[in-house]
Amino acid sequence: MTVLRGARERWVRTGGVELGVAELGDPGRPTVVLVHGYPDSKEVWSEVATRLADRFHVVLYDVRGHGRSTAPQPLRGGFTLEKLTDDFLAVVDAVSPGRPVHLVGHDWGSVQSWEFVTVKRTEGRIASFTSISGPSLDHFGHWIDKRLRRPTPRRVGQLLGQGAKSWYVYLLHTPVLPERAWRGPLGKAWPRILERVERTPRGDGYPTGSLPRDAAHGAWLYRDNVRARLRRPRADAYAHAPVQLITPLGDVFLSDRLYDELERWAPQLTRRSLPARHWVPRTRPDQLAAWIGEFVTGVEDGRGAPAAGNGPYAERFGGQLVLVTGAGSGIGRASAYAFAEAGARVIAVDRDAEAAGRTAEMARLLGAPAAWAETVDVSDEQQMEKLAERVTAEHGVVDVLVNNAGIGMSGSFFDTTTEDWRKVLDVNLWGVVHGCRLFGKRMAERGQGGHIVNVASAAAYQPSRVLAAYSTSKAGVLMLSECLRAELAGEGIGVSAICPGLVNTNITATARFAGVGAEEELRLQKRVAKLYGWRNYPPEKVADAVLRAVVRNEAVVAVTPEARGARVLARVAPRVLRGLARVRPPV
Ligand code: NAD
Repeated sequence: MTVLRGARERWVRTGGVELGVAELGDPGRPTVVLVHGYPDSKEVWSEVATRLADRFHVVLYDVRGHGRSTAPQPLRGGFTLEKLTDDFLAVVDAVSPGRPVHLVGHDWGSVQSWEFVTVKRTEGRIASFTSISGPSLDHFGHWIDKRLRRPTPRRVGQLLGQGAKSWYVYLLHTPVLPERAWRGPLGKAWPRILERVERTPRGDGYPTGSLPRDAAHGAWLYRDNVRARLRRPRADAYAHAPVQLITPLGDVFLSDRLYDELERWAPQLTRRSLPARHWVPRTRPDQLAAWIGEFVTGVEDGRGAPAAGNGPYAERFGGQLVLVTGAGSGIGRASAYAFAEAGARVIAVDRDAEAAGRTAEMARLLGAPAAWAETVDVSDEQQMEKLAERVTAEHGVVDVLVNNAGIGMSGSFFDTTTEDWRKVLDVNLWGVVHGCRLFGKRMAERGQGGHIVNVASAAAYQPSRVLAAYSTSKAGVLMLSECLRAELAGEGIGVSAICPGLVNTNITATARFAGVGAEEELRLQKRVAKLYGWRNYPPEKVADAVLRAVVRNEAVVAVTPEARGARVLARVAPRVLRGLARVRPPV
C-alpha cells in the first residue's frame, strides 16, 4: 500500500542510479522538494505533502539506495555529498527546469540539503530552504573545532552533550553490524520502536516495506561523509537562499546549541521551534505544512520570510497554540498579549464574553497569526469538557496551557461560609484541575510534549489570618503543579507554578470579603485596590515570568520582591512567616 495517494511517479537517471520521484499538485505552482532522512524513504513526507499539494507543486524523491531508487555500485563511496548533490540537481532539472525550487529536508535530508544550499553549482536553483533536525556537517565541524580550540567548561559540556546524543552515529560506522541488525531484528522492531518512542501514529503505511534495505544502504551516508567533513569542514559553507530552521524541542538526537551561531552561515534566517520529538513529518504535519507554506509564499511574493513574531520569545512560541484562562483581565490578559507578540496563536478564555473578545481582538493586532475568544466558566466541568473538544477539533492540541482564572476571597475563617469556600475552591482549584486534566491529557496523548502553567500565588506558601480559603486554594494549585510536574516529566510536558505577590489588577475590585455587609465590602475593595495601585506592580511583568517559566521549564516562580522574600522565609525562617500571619492587615 502506498501512503502517497494520487502521486504521479517518474524515474530520473543520474550517475549510474535511477531515482524514484513522485509529484503532487499543479506543476505550474511553485515547486517544493521534500528530501527524506535516515532510515526513511520519501513516504515519511506523505502527510506533509498532501497538505501542501493544494497550493504547491510538491516533489518527493527516494534518496539513492532508498525506497524505489536503485543503489550505487559499489556502495562505499557511492553516497558522498557531491553525488547526492548531483542527484538533487538531476531531479530539479527534470521537475522544475526553468524555476528555482523550495527545498525542505528532515534529518539526513536536511544534512544533505545544507550541502545543496551552500555549494556554488546550485546557485539560482534553490529559492528557499527549510531545515528540520539535520545540521550542516560543515557548520557542525566548525562548531566542534571552536569548542576544542577554546574549551571553556560550558563549551566542553556542550560537546559532551551532543557527543552523547550522537551514540547511533558511532554505531553506524562499525562495519557489517548495522546492516545485519537492520535486515534482521531491528528492521522488524522499528515500526513499534517509532510508535513507542517517537509516538508516530500507527498503521498508515509508514514505514514502508523497504525499510531494512533503506536503513542498511543509508549507513553509507554516515560512513562516506561524517568523519571526513567533521575533520575538514568547508570554510565557505554559506547559504545562498533564505533558510527557515525548525527545531523540535524534544529531539533526542540533536542539541539545539548546535544552531547557536547559525546566523553567521545563513544570514537570512528564520527560526522556529515546536514541542515535538524527532520525527515531526509524521507527528506534526499540520504545523510543518503551515510553516513551509508561509515561508515559501513569503519568499515567492518577494515579501521575504515572514517574521515569527517579535521579541525575545518569538523563536520559541511563534505559531504555537496557547490557551489562557481568565484572559479577560489582569495577568491572564497580559499573558495572552505577550504570547501574541511572540507570534503564538491564542485562545482567550474567560467567563466574561466581552472581555475575552477584546483580548482576542487586541492579540491579533499585537501579532498573533490567529486569536479566538471562548466564553467559559472554568469551574464548570461540562463547559470545560466541551471547550477542550471544540479546541482540539478546530485548532488541534494546545502547546501551552495557562490556568490563570481565579478570584479573591478574604475574611476570618469563621466568617467564611461553606458557600464562600465552595466558590473559591471551585474556581481557583477545580478550574485548574479541569484545565490540567482535559488539556493535559490531550497533550500527553499526542506524545510530543508541551507546557502547563498554573497561576498560584505567594499566598500558597505564606499563611495569613484573613486568607484561609484563598490560600488553601492556592496551596492546592502549587502542590498539584508539583505532583503533575513529576508525573508528566517523562512525557516531555513541563509544569510551572507562578506565585505572584501583590499585582495591580482588577482582582481587588471583584474580591469577596467574608463577614461584612455589601457597603463595607465595597469600602474594603476600594481600600485594597488603592493599596495594590500604590504598590503598582504591573501584570505585564508577571506575564513575562509566565513565558520565561515555559522557556526555562521552571518549577515554581515567585514574582514580585515580596513573593520572593516570603519564599525564602518559608524555607529558612518559617517562624517569621507564622508571626507575620498573625498580624491583622491594615485594610
Ligand atoms: P483579574 O480579576 O484582573 O482577572 C481574572 C480574570 O479571570 C477575569 O477576567 C475574570 O473574569 C476571570 N475569571 C474569574 N473567574 C472565572 C471563571 N470561573 N471562569 C473563567 N474566567 C474567570 O485578576 P488577576 O489579578 O489577573 O488574577 C489572575 C490570577 O492571578 C488569579 O488566579 C489570581 O488568584 C492570581 N493572583 C493574582 C494576584 C494579584 O495580586 N493580582 C496575586 C497572586 C495571584
